Amino acid sequence: MTSRSVSVLGATGSIGASTLDLIGRDPDRFRVVALSANRDVAKLAELSRAFRAEAAVVADEALLPELKDRLAGTGTRASGGPLALVEAAATPVDYTMAAIVGCAGLQSTLAAVARGGTVALANKEALVSAGPLLMDAVARSGATLLPVDSEHNAIFQCLETRNRDQVRRLVLTASGGPFRAASTAEMRAATPAAAVAHPNWSMGAKISVDSATLMNKGLELIEASYLFGFPEDRIDILVHPQSVIHSMVEYADGSTLAQLGSPDMRTPIAHTLAWPRRMASPSAPLDLARVGRLDFEAPDDERFPALRLCRDALRAGGAAPAVLNAANEVAVAAFLRGRAGFLEIAEIVGQVIEHMTLSDPATIAEVLTIDAEARRAAERLLTDRAA
Ligand code: NDP
Repeated sequence: MTSRSVSVLGATGSIGASTLDLIGRDPDRFRVVALSANRDVAKLAELSRAFRAEAAVVADEALLPELKDRLAGTGTRASGGPLALVEAAATPVDYTMAAIVGCAGLQSTLAAVARGGTVALANKEALVSAGPLLMDAVARSGATLLPVDSEHNAIFQCLETRNRDQVRRLVLTASGGPFRAASTAEMRAATPAAAVAHPNWSMGAKISVDSATLMNKGLELIEASYLFGFPEDRIDILVHPQSVIHSMVEYADGSTLAQLGSPDMRTPIAHTLAWPRRMASPSAPLDLARVGRLDFEAPDDERFPALRLCRDALRAGGAAPAVLNAANEVAVAAFLRGRAGFLEIAEIVGQVIEHMTLSDPATIAEVLTIDAEARRAAERLLTDRAA
């Protein structure tokens, strides 16, 4: 059996760990080409050694000397800086996992897509910021884009290609996050530790906060619209606290197809790693008798205004999703550092969107300019609020 060559962008993160866990369980099947990190050179070097990676890239170039030291004598090539990251992403491999968090992953995700291979997309912020341009690049290069987000992976599995014109709506499920039943007063006082304590999933800090504000579900709404080509009003959100049904597709005849599984990212990642076949994953088998019941409720747009912000940004199109994403990244980072309150995240995003008028981006460079401007606007608001 010939092995599949694999690169993992964002190897030191939560999705990176799950991907490498699967690869490590079947080492004859995969060959690791490139691994990347932002600053965690210790972990990057350790993973590079363990998986005998051909190349290791640290995005923060100042840390390249340390990475070189740590990899001395291993045969792994070390490189650093944003350009090196894009070069690594552009190196031909059978499969790229795009798992950098934030718009910082846009250029490397795009480089992997432009090369035309199979790209497993976890880096939702790249798609939210540059959806139409990224999807154009997929169409031009003939890349296979496989969704990693459990909801989109579920929809991908339930979407019958021959019956796309018979789809009535997509239904994205949401756990509701740690504050599903919290009052507005409780959310106002929420600490970073409480916000990242997700009831069902173990994830990186940024997406955990997004899950608590439900911004994550809003970003996923935008992601689903771009990935599958459905307008905002044909994508519904349904709160389902057990996170067993990962999403659904409803057809014109009334049939609703759902994908179910234990809440473990190794299931959707395994789906992309083996696609179009299947492979074994160590995720716990779904024991519905033990789960006992599945609950559902409508999302509360009043307590979770991020949902409406995302719907509005998707409908507005143009620069709005990139502005929303950038402002959210800044506001979430500020919340995690104790510079902003939990409810201020959506407030800041809403204010940045309201006060920025930008023309539609026609190129990735323009998306990055919009991203930078929105970040500056969010920073200014944070400073004003602190004064
Ligand atoms: P983590 O924070 O755990 O990991 C992020 C990774 O990106 C790390 O390898 C980090 O490196 C790297 N990184 C961070 N900033 C930069 C930068 N500026 N330049 C280059 N690399 C950078 O995130 P997750 O694994 O949780 O999430 C990754 C992506 O997957 C996100 O877009 C998220 O929304 C999506 N996703 C995650 C899920 C999950 O279960 N975790 C589920 C569905 C989607 P370093 O370690 O050095 O900081």
